[in-house]
Amino acid sequence: MQTPSLQTLVTRPDLGLVKGRDALDSAKRSCDQPTLHLTPNSLAMIIVTRPDTTQEQIDHIVDRIRSWGLKAEVSRGEMRVVIGVIGPEDKIREKPLGAFPGVESVTPVLKPYKLVAREFRGRYSHVRVGDVTVGAKEVVVMAGPCSVESEGQITAIAKEVRKAGAKILRGGAFKPRTSPYSFQGLGKLGLQFLAEARQVTGMPIITEVMDTKDLELVCAYADCLQVGARNMQNFSLLREVGRTDLPVMLKRGMSATIKDLLMSAEYILNEGNFNVLLCERGIRTFENMTRNTLDLNAVPVLKSETHLPVVVDPTHGIGVREFVPAMALAAVAAGADSIMVEVHNAPEQAKSDGEQALLPADFEDLVARVRSVAVAVGREL
Ligand code: PEP
Ligand code: MN
Repeated sequence: MQTPSLQTLVTRPDLGLVKGRDALDSAKRSCDQPTLHLTPNSLAMIIVTRPDTTQEQIDHIVDRIRSWGLKAEVSRGEMRVVIGVIGPEDKIREKPLGAFPGVESVTPVLKPYKLVAREFRGRYSHVRVGDVTVGAKEVVVMAGPCSVESEGQITAIAKEVRKAGAKILRGGAFKPRTSPYSFQGLGKLGLQFLAEARQVTGMPIITEVMDTKDLELVCAYADCLQVGARNMQNFSLLREVGRTDLPVMLKRGMSATIKDLLMSAEYILNEGNFNVLLCERGIRTFENMTRNTLDLNAVPVLKSETHLPVVVDPTHGIGVREFVPAMALAAVAAGADSIMVEVHNAPEQAKSDGEQALLPADFEDLVARVRSVAVAVGREL
């Protein structure tokens, strides 16, 4: 039997090793979400249908909206269907949206962000990362080292975190470092090692893309793209990840408000990619006994403002190993859909962020406690 090459083993089989612009174009085509492209004058209206509205009536409403050159995004809740309408304000305002049979109410979205607004969907979004769903009842634990350092390192840590209950493997191949002299990540080799670890453990992988020039490469390996805090307002990167068919985790910038985070996410959805996770990872404050100040206020605020799932990264949020578990538990108590925790099997040898990484045994202990908190707040793990 022929042994598969490293490349066939490690690349995402559905995308293959895609080349040039074709990669992004094919990702765009396979994305089932509409490309909405709000213009500055665009208004979004929310049509809420009645519980007894028929499928025929819904189809009729959607057909008419589209025949006017407006966009319609249908979201099904348990009781009723919500239709988001997008287009130029003057055009939408003149349409008798409330006159269709089956419509209960029509409300304009007045917020600066529209597609990410909770009312735009009328329900919380579930985002799939590989075969894992984020945003449903289960609290999803993502874990792994800050950086991918070697094949042995990532695979060993992946096995440990998987055994402890993590569902998604994290690890940076492209690292945003304050100093140009610090370890910058293994790049493509790091992606290949991550994919090996996925092969061994079955866990989907999330990894950072720092630059549009690397997007095609990262897309060929990752199951979820991470846009880091330092790139939260890199609008060309946001637009490009919005054109892929991969889920994106957008981390809050260290000086960004919650509204800034939502506006950045709006860029991604506006390109047609609705599979976005928002991550609170700590902000800069005057406090200097911790690396950052984990703003857990953001969790309930985001859950009320947006339909997108909320992830909390307590590791960067507090930046001190011994305090990470307390903040992870607090994040789940506050309503986070997922937590991302850095774990390293030899933190004193880590090439980045060793001081904040949990040891595998401590991580295992944490997951058990996270499970208890999840159950206490009506979730599961
Ligand atoms: C990371 O997750 O390792 C990272 C660099 O995060 P942030 O962008 O939040 O600093
Ligand atoms: Mn890190």
